[in-house]
Amino acid sequence: MNSLQQKIYNRFVRYVSVDTTSDPTSSITPTTPSQISFAHTLSQEMKTVGFTEVEVDEYGFVTGLLPANTNQKAPVIGFFAHMDTVCDFNGKNIRPQIHADYDGGSITINADKKMFLSPQTDHNLKLCIGDDIITTDGNSLLAGDDKIGIATIMTLAEYLTEHPEIKHGPIKAAFTIDEETGTGITFFDIEKFGADFAYTVDGSTLGEIDCGNFNADTVTIHITGKTCHPGSAKGFMANPVRIAADIISSWPEDKLPETTEGEEGFVLFKDIEGGLDKALLKGIVREHDLAKFEQFKTLLQELIEQKRKKYPAAKIEIEFKKQYRNMRDILKERPQAMELLEEALRENHVQYRLTQARGGTDGAQMTLRGLPTPNIFAGYENPHGPYEWISMGWVEKTFHILESIAKNAVK
Ligand SMILES: [Zn+2]
Repeated sequence: MNSLQQKIYNRFVRYVSVDTTSDPTSSITPTTPSQISFAHTLSQEMKTVGFTEVEVDEYGFVTGLLPANTNQKAPVIGFFAHMDTVCDFNGKNIRPQIHADYDGGSITINADKKMFLSPQTDHNLKLCIGDDIITTDGNSLLAGDDKIGIATIMTLAEYLTEHPEIKHGPIKAAFTIDEETGTGITFFDIEKFGADFAYTVDGSTLGEIDCGNFNADTVTIHITGKTCHPGSAKGFMANPVRIAADIISSWPEDKLPETTEGEEGFVLFKDIEGGLDKALLKGIVREHDLAKFEQFKTLLQELIEQKRKKYPAAKIEIEFKKQYRNMRDILKERPQAMELLEEALRENHVQYRLTQARGGTDGAQMTLRGLPTPNIFAGYENPHGPYEWISMGWVEKTFHILESIAKNAVK
């Protein structure tokens, strides 16, 4: 590891020693109190690396300003990373292992548990020969998602403070709560933050830039049946359980999560409850293209109309609720965030792919609320489980891309 990587790594090790697992079943904000205490620890460190106006708000968001060191005009840029880790796998007692100077072979995570990483299955390892690879010890996740993002932003601030010859405008940082539960960012005060545009440093592989995401609605179908003694039900009964099953199996098989990828959308029926009296069928609709998204919803409505004709004794109602929309169009209308990012990627010789995330990101929500925020790769792979790994070479690239953005914004 070179000294820059070592600085980022040392911070990372410190951050992952704190368990900040979020909890989707919790009804408080943040969902776990450990996130607040971690925010306070980070706020102390932020002051030591040059941030001013450092604040932990009532929800646990920690923000700070790295003041401009030039009078030249520059936009206010925001960098975001999230403090929480996912609850899907153990996030306590994380013990990162360094596999120095990766030789292209397989990496032992835990010999006793027969846990390995192999370039045959983890193809991106082939891109990391010569890098230091960080893995877990097999007993926890690594929390590279997203503590390596925090470590990178913190180290960048320290670096810019130590190098006043690098001119930059105002840079704001925010370390956020409850990204993994999807419930945190709605509480973030965008107006007070005051950035013109921002970046979440929470993507995966080197070169991957998320600048789009799904359009998303929930769909709820209420079925009211007509019931009687089954022995004399002929021509009378409408059975909500069977109607629900009929609706699910009538949805086209090529428009399901398990049959689609890339930019293909889907409907996922995820919950069904009920009996002979009534049934409730819940699902989600996902599609990147807004016109196709509306077609999906029309298709669902037509399907329900067919079932109403087929089961005239039943009452079937369908209802959509808006969740979020694709940020792609807004990022095109306000192009400065993407222009600076693409310039930084080219300057650092990173071959990049503009991808459409198959999910929502915090950045997507903020973009829709008025703060354009694409997502930059942070350098981790296989998040949310014990096979998570980080390439310190990728992390260093992320660092330099953020540095270029900060520098090039001054013109
Ligand atoms: Zn993340």
